[in-house]
Amino acid sequence: MLEEQLKKEVAEFAKLVWDRKLTDGTGGNMSIKYGEKIYITPTSTIKHFLTEKDIITIDKNGNKIDGLKKPSSEKKMHIKIYEKANDVNAVIHAHPMYATSFAITFEKLPINALPESSLVLDPITYIPYQMPGTQEFADAFNEGLEKGSRVFVLQNHGVTVAGKDMNEAYVKLETLEFLAQVSFVSKLYSNVNEIPEEKIAAFKEFFRRNKADQ
Ligand code: 13P
Ligand code: ZN
Repeated sequence: MLEEQLKKEVAEFAKLVWDRKLTDGTGGNMSIKYGEKIYITPTSTIKHFLTEKDIITIDKNGNKIDGLKKPSSEKKMHIKIYEKANDVNAVIHAHPMYATSFAITFEKLPINALPESSLVLDPITYIPYQMPGTQEFADAFNEGLEKGSRVFVLQNHGVTVAGKDMNEAYVKLETLEFLAQVSFVSKLYSNVNEIPEEKIAAFKEFFRRNKADQ
């Protein structure tokens, strides 16, 4: 059944995020939207152990439709993203070590350090600290979502990424954390050299055409 399949996908990606150390302890939450329903991880759980039976179904107002436990305390953020971005059907919020360190220093990531990151992450929105789980926190996504951003660095907290499906959202999370890791190591070696803007633009155009040819 489709609902079970969607819940399974949320649980599998949540486990993948945790197993790849892209979030800590019980941190982070993941969801998929399908039709009028949102399938979301339960609050305060170690994602490694999640199965489809643990995933909670909520409506667009955050009311629980089914599920054994309480939905994520960040449900307002997930609902906000689906509300504002029609192209988005999957959201991952996580606390990966290196990207979260950038969220603490609140320095901008060198997005053009790698072709992939320029392609997949642009534009990144940096959201000043808001208390997690609150409506103010969810509302802080408005501006970035309106300008088409699907990647968010959350000051003193972590990151949120969104995509047309779980696969796309997950790739954004990996790419963001990888960029944070390599830029940290590059700084230790010497410094971070970014690819010049015109070469980034040429790569994006090449990639767009290559995709269109498929
Ligand atoms: P939940 O366990 O309620 O999903 O919250 C985790 C989290 O990362 C809060 O920001
Ligand atoms: Zn969090």
